[in-house]
Amino acid sequence: MITTYHRPQTLDEALTLLSRPNAHPLGGGTLLSKPTTDPIEAIDLQALGLNTISRKGNDLELGATVTLQQFLESEHCPEALKPAIKLEAPINIRNSATVAGTLVASDGRSPFATALLALDAKITVVSKPSSVTSVGEFLPLRPRGLITSITLPLNIKFAFEFVSRTPADKPMICTALTQWTSGRTRLVLGGYGKSPMLAMDGTESEGIETAARNAYHEATDEWASAEYRMDVAAVLVKRCLEVIK
Ligand SMILES: Cc1cc2nc3c(=O)[nH]c(=O)nc-3n(C[C@H](O)[C@H](O)[C@H](O)COP(=O)(O)OP(=O)(O)OC[C@H]3O[C@@H](n4cnc5c(N)ncnc54)[C@H](O)[C@@H]3O)c2cc1C
Repeated sequence: MITTYHRPQTLDEALTLLSRPNAHPLGGGTLLSKPTTDPIEAIDLQALGLNTISRKGNDLELGATVTLQQFLESEHCPEALKPAIKLEAPINIRNSATVAGTLVASDGRSPFATALLALDAKITVVSKPSSVTSVGEFLPLRPRGLITSITLPLNIKFAFEFVSRTPADKPMICTALTQWTSGRTRLVLGGYGKSPMLAMDGTESEGIETAARNAYHEATDEWASAEYRMDVAAVLVKRCLEVIK
């Protein structure tokens, strides 16, 4: 339960407040405002000016408090990424939920986190000292700290394919494939577990179907069996390859 609310005006003020034991950054608040027994000091980030989207050469920098809907409607949002953002949450939630809050709160079923991991997106975490880390390093540990931005590459080919119970449900299986001009090919699978899974990051796409099958070999839960996920992943990854060729 949120017991105390602060709206810092500067990053320094926010960092000082966040050093308190029960303090948490408040993005859109769609998750943080849910009832819990623990007292929470909410540090609202909305006055910090972190809600901008800017192109920097071949990179796109998303401020931490950019909402999912703001990103979706931005002229800079890559078309291939839009289905993953739409599947993340319905429009009312997308209007409040921020890119950083969504990543921090994500599990393996998050299409947005799956896409960011496939894009090898970088996260700037401001603490003392500040650091830049990749989504791949961040997700398994989710260290405390204030995310100020997420940076994605734009000079890539990207494909996202999924299977879900209905077209608007979060996927039970999804594949996100990124290919750089160097030939580097990175495949991430979502729809299962605590975080999306990196299935392959190599210099070419050789063996990618096997990598997709292998990554899901223990992925049984209430939504699907591992065997089903393995078979479908092989099909979805072929579709991704068709899209980017
Ligand atoms: C009606 C409803 C339905 C929902 N349905 C789903 C669903 O189906 N699936 C699902 O996964 N989620 C769901 N959610 C949860 C929520 O929508 C998402 O997790 C959302 O994307 C969180 O984003 P936010 O900006 O609102 O985060 P917040 O609630 O503000 O914060 C979420 C977490 O991220 C941390 N955080 C926020 N910003 C930062 C930052 N800049 N740096 C570091 N940490 C930060 C917070 O401290 C907190 O721990 C639902 C929520 C509601 C209200």
